[in-house]
Amino acid sequence: MTFAAQILTLYPEMFPGPLGHSIAGRALAEGRWSLEAIQIRDFATDKHRSVDDTPAGGGAGMVLRADVLASAVDHALERSPNAPVIAMTPRGAPLTQGRVRQLADGPGVTILCGRFEGFDERLFEARPIEEISIGDYVLSGGETGALVMLDACVRLLPDVMGASSSGDEESFENGLLEYPHYTRPQIWEGRAIPEVLRSGDHARIRAWRDSQAAEITRLRRPDLWERHGGTPDQSPSGARRKR
Ligand code: SAH
Repeated sequence: MTFAAQILTLYPEMFPGPLGHSIAGRALAEGRWSLEAIQIRDFATDKHRSVDDTPAGGGAGMVLRADVLASAVDHALERSPNAPVIAMTPRGAPLTQGRVRQLADGPGVTILCGRFEGFDERLFEARPIEEISIGDYVLSGGETGALVMLDACVRLLPDVMGASSSGDEESFENGLLEYPHYTRPQIWEGRAIPEVLRSGDHARIRAWRDSQAAEITRLRRPDLWERHGGTPDQSPSGARRKR
């Protein structure tokens, strides 16, 4: 079964955009996933095809209409009844690698992209919609968020990236950030690759990478480190990664 992505947007021409290139683009061409960008405006009913209106109670900007969005969502649900419908919004649950992995294991995803001030709240009461944020900052529209989420999903699909995405070594896969990488030249601007990586001693290399991953996570992301089971004050040198 192919992972089917549907995007509800006022800017369907933004897709596949960057996902038409490199790994995701190759996988799309090979039919490992599919993408349908659906124009929200096609579900407008008045003669001006309006999708937004002024905010009730006053204030700046425009709000996307619940009736038009619901018709677009219903259309998407008819085509892909089992795919979760996800609205891109800064107030949503922060996107995580765990959620990405669940999505990639499923039938696909329908993504609703906001614009202007966002969505009429009643949409979320009337339809089964999950709200997701890609981070604590404000974008001008949900399309770039949708691209981010899809990119993260597509690289996990079977046979898209081969071995490199299946391991648990990458950042977030085991609750830690990744250890540092090096490649040739051996010496660059007077800096040598760490000796342990040239030792050929796989157990030592494993231990070094584990301790580096722990140390980097502890220093840069105390929140992740704590969730992982470390405490911010504890020396990570003895901390072995859960395998
Ligand atoms: N008034 C809203 C921001 C609207 S930004 C607020 O203050 O919360 C316009 C659209 O961009 C949103 O509807 C949403 O679809 C998208 N967007 C903005 N920031 C986002 C983020 N961090 N994650 C996901 N989508 C975002």
